Amino acid sequence: MYSSVAENISQVTSRIRAAEKAAGRIPGIVQLIAVSKTRSANEVRNAVMAGAQHIGENYLQEALDKQAELSDLDITWHFIGPVQSNKTRTIADHFDWVHSVDRWKIAKRLNDQRKTAATPLNVCIQVNVSDETTKSGVSLDELPELAAQINELPNLKLRGLMAIPSPDQSNEDLAADFARMQQSLNELNELGLALDTLSMGMSGDIELAIAAGSTMVRVGTAIFGPRNYSKPDTDKK
Ligand SMILES: *Cc1c(COP(=O)(O)O)cnc(C)c1O
Repeated sequence: MYSSVAENISQVTSRIRAAEKAAGRIPGIVQLIAVSKTRSANEVRNAVMAGAQHIGENYLQEALDKQAELSDLDITWHFIGPVQSNKTRTIADHFDWVHSVDRWKIAKRLNDQRKTAATPLNVCIQVNVSDETTKSGVSLDELPELAAQINELPNLKLRGLMAIPSPDQSNEDLAADFARMQQSLNELNELGLALDTLSMGMSGDIELAIAAGSTMVRVGTAIFGPRNYSKPDTDKK
């Protein structure tokens, strides 16, 4: 059955508030990011009209096209995809947050290319928490050193950690990954950093992530429906 983006946002928001309550979290502490990769500018507009002010995008050119079409709206833009070093200047110019910083070179370039007159770019370090197939993300071993280095960069504001755990695991293993993230954040804060963000939880695991301390959930499918990556004119026979 068809349900609108607005209805879906209202349902996802209810899930978030219920999960906060069940976990004894502060009501309203978890920020919803609507992830709109592959969706049209008009679908994003509908989501913003329905109250989703934070929008997450994975692919730079696709994001820039939508930003141009939606410049009349007040949107906080989050870059959540892999960052190529030849794209850092444009990303530093066009986004409020980058969740997927996973190496020094990228952090340094974003810092150097962020216009100093602008506010610092909010960044999270992407952690390879499931420690397997996914190539993105710094290992837990390398995290403290990278975090300490990034924390010194004047044009970046290191806000916290992001993870995309392996989806092919039991809820127990997923919960263990999320718990490791929470613990890593605590350890960094004990070392003197002041991190307030855990970006974790997607359509299928919002509740598990919030129970483990997530402060930002990145939700695509539960808002916009299943993604279709094939081109409209592709012969699918
Ligand atoms: C696509 C994507 C999401 C959203 O995933 P859904 O399962 O559709 O909610 C979240 N985070 C990242 C990094 C993504 O690429």
